[in-house]
Amino acid sequence: MKKIKNYIDGKMVDAASKKTLSNVEPATGRIYSRLPDSGTRDVAAAVAAAKKAFPDWSQTPAAERSRLLLKIADGIDANLEGFAKAEAIDSGKPLSLAHGIEIPRAASNFRFFATAILHEHSQSHATDHTALNVTLRRPRGVAGLISPWNLPLYLFTWKIAPALAAGNTAVAKPSELTPMTAFLLSEVCRKAGLPKGVLNIVHGLGKSVGAAISAHPDIGTLSFTGGTATGGAIASAAAPLFKKVSLEMGGKNPNIIFADADMDEALRTTLRSSFQNQGEICLCGSRIFVEKKAYPAFLKRFTVMAKKLKVGDPLQKGTDQGALVSAAHLEKVRGYVQLAMEEGGTIQCGGRPPLSLPPRCKRGFFFLPTIITGLHSKCRVNQEEIFGPVVTVQPFTSEKQVIAAANSTPYGLSASVWTRDGGRAHRIAERLHAGTVWINCWMLRDLRVPFGGMKQSGLGREGGEEALRFFTEPKNVCIKMENDRG
Ligand code: NAD
Repeated sequence: MKKIKNYIDGKMVDAASKKTLSNVEPATGRIYSRLPDSGTRDVAAAVAAAKKAFPDWSQTPAAERSRLLLKIADGIDANLEGFAKAEAIDSGKPLSLAHGIEIPRAASNFRFFATAILHEHSQSHATDHTALNVTLRRPRGVAGLISPWNLPLYLFTWKIAPALAAGNTAVAKPSELTPMTAFLLSEVCRKAGLPKGVLNIVHGLGKSVGAAISAHPDIGTLSFTGGTATGGAIASAAAPLFKKVSLEMGGKNPNIIFADADMDEALRTTLRSSFQNQGEICLCGSRIFVEKKAYPAFLKRFTVMAKKLKVGDPLQKGTDQGALVSAAHLEKVRGYVQLAMEEGGTIQCGGRPPLSLPPRCKRGFFFLPTIITGLHSKCRVNQEEIFGPVVTVQPFTSEKQVIAAANSTPYGLSASVWTRDGGRAHRIAERLHAGTVWINCWMLRDLRVPFGGMKQSGLGREGGEEALRFFTEPKNVCIKMENDRG
């Protein structure tokens, strides 16, 4: 059985307590590796190492930081097969998704920020003829980085890459449910020659490792991605210490489809935005609003397409949907389907685990793509994040009505709008409470743009320049100019 280790001060080590946690493969329900059950002592050791490494790393020329980060990206690419398999086994997602999109994107995260720092510039402001103000941006110190299980390596590196590129050192914690790719990343960093202590990876539970990172007085910057309740706990721990905090949290994203949309494309993409990665993507559209005159035909075709999705072994070629991440998460999803029925909903398809699975997967945490109709916008199923392969479909009659319904949840992460009417698309995009609005598409990402949510979906923005800015402290240097009266 593979034994995962912490990566502290350049060394691969066990938890100080020597305790371990089980790592379960969601597709089979079997324990397939063990990870350190770390705690306060391990976080303290990691912070000490990061603090020690900071003076040198922050003074290392950008070109050298860039070279090392590019080497890490190459290291991920060189072991694409190993990373993809580890991610599929850890999370239950189809291997094809890990291999085709998520692991390559993790390497891209390093490349993007490694090259961005080579093109940085700072501002200057002349105050009449009296002074010149120069804005210096300097790394903040030790960053605490906490990430979730749904896109394990992609979201982990989305934080590590900008933090290190900007000259910070870091203590990072992956989700305890999906630790394997973070472990493989520590091996890649060692091989790439990343100086010891620059990146430290501490495995373990949120309530022990995550809480210790959030509360550590020597960590001045916290970047978190995960659930909204956890984000609240982190913000509470950080506030008395005046830490700089970025929170990327849950979503309940609307997908608004007008009758004039390219329906074939809207259907194909909506199928993906509903069920890709078992619906376990914060950006999945979980509330689908369809203009009334197109609603019956849309629902019929959408249901037929969802029923055809192949749910099964994530490691098998041709699998569209794998297993949910854990038994507890499967229960949560099942509970929401039960609630939907109590709230008066009708299940159009799914609503239960598949009846037949390969023998290896008999104890896995599978659930069929599920479409529910007949629910009001304000019911719990339409207000709370389910984070599984469950969507609702509702008809609408006017722009005003659909905007109000779309904006009616506490969340504001993303939205999609489908129409051929450009004016309407812009009008609606402007009025939706969402950090990202996709028009006639979904999940098209450009790493340069600000990314994040509004309301309870997030605080602060990541992505591109925003991320590098987040991990730096601006300082104004005001230089008095000689007043030449001659
Ligand atoms: P989670 O909040 O349970 O856990 C996220 C991370 O926080 C894990 O590493 C966990 O161990 C840690 N953690 C848990 N309790 C903690 C505490 N008290 N203090 C510090 N750290 C703690 O979330 P999850 O179940 O892993 O992920 C699913 C959630 O993440 C969903 O709500 C989803 O929408 C959200 N998400 C958001 C984005 C985004 O960009 N907005 C992206 C992906 C996932």
